[in-house]
Amino acid sequence: MTSVSGAAAAGEGWGQGCGANCFTLDEDGFTCRRVLDAPEVWRVELLMHDTFLPSVNAFVVLDGGEALVVDAGTPDPLNDTRLMRALLGLGVDPAETPTTLFCTHAHIDHVGLARELAEAGARVLVPEGVLADMRRFAVPAWRDEMAARMRAEGAPDAEAVELADVIWDHVVNFETEKIAFSTVAPGDAVRLGRWAFEVVAAPGHTVGQCVLWEPETRTAFLGDAVLFLCSTCIGFWGEGEDPLGEQLRTLGALAEKGIEHAFMGHGLQEGSVSERCLGNADHHERRSARALAAIAERPGSTGYELVPAMGWRAPFDRWAETPAMTRWFLVSESIAHLDHLVATGAVRRERGADGAHRYFAVE
Ligand SMILES: [Zn+2]
Ligand SMILES: [Zn+2]
Repeated sequence: MTSVSGAAAAGEGWGQGCGANCFTLDEDGFTCRRVLDAPEVWRVELLMHDTFLPSVNAFVVLDGGEALVVDAGTPDPLNDTRLMRALLGLGVDPAETPTTLFCTHAHIDHVGLARELAEAGARVLVPEGVLADMRRFAVPAWRDEMAARMRAEGAPDAEAVELADVIWDHVVNFETEKIAFSTVAPGDAVRLGRWAFEVVAAPGHTVGQCVLWEPETRTAFLGDAVLFLCSTCIGFWGEGEDPLGEQLRTLGALAEKGIEHAFMGHGLQEGSVSERCLGNADHHERRSARALAAIAERPGSTGYELVPAMGWRAPFDRWAETPAMTRWFLVSESIAHLDHLVATGAVRRERGADGAHRYFAVE
């Protein structure tokens, strides 16, 4: 193939049909596909960076000549092109079409293209709690707080800093980034044509995450509140907070909502949302029970010492060669389990003379 025909092929590489109600966004298999008729929802699959997740979803909802985009992918130029091609293919020009971007939470894989959408003319909506997340977690002080907490849990100094460094800036702060936005609160409605999507708080994965809920069609946009691909990551917040407890309450509430059509940040719905929420809650409860058993067996262990005893499928024999991001997920979610056991009164945390937290089961 000559370079000329190669260039022509590249030029023709998007917008091709990939079945009914589907068009390609490039030649790498990224597509925009209609996933629901009422409301009319299109899934835009975008490249995910840095984790084992294969992709991240942005959803475009259309009605009455307006567009609602739920979450905005990771920030790279190819994803920017893919999302803009999806909008173009759907006849949406944010400069002409009233377009709203709703961000479920401020993780970089969900707000990465917020600036591009805002600059193209979209109105950006952020839940109040997510703005609070941005102010609390997208600042260097949080990196230091994280490192200090992991040190207190017994992580070696260098590793505590390494793990904090690898993750702390995965929250984007729209204020310091100067991305224009306005806020909404739980209970508010995000309107689109004939539809009204209710903003519903869903804390756990982050402090302020919110989902969108349309009760008539029982449709929900869930961000990372629950996934079918894997268990959603629950990291520690501050000492005295209980993110896992929050997540268990969120899963319980979502299980009772009667969601029929769920659109999540990663992957697709596979079966009953209610069953998935309850199953995921059980999964967390089993891990907490393992943590409690390990503490009962070895009272006075530090958090860091307890990580391998919590039943993770992870290469603890090759810990040093394990990517920092993976080690971060393991340590952080283990600490969240310990915080949960302390919050529920099952475990007592004592600070030793060396400053390290040690754990004891409450009889
Ligand atoms: Zn997330
Ligand atoms: Zn995500």
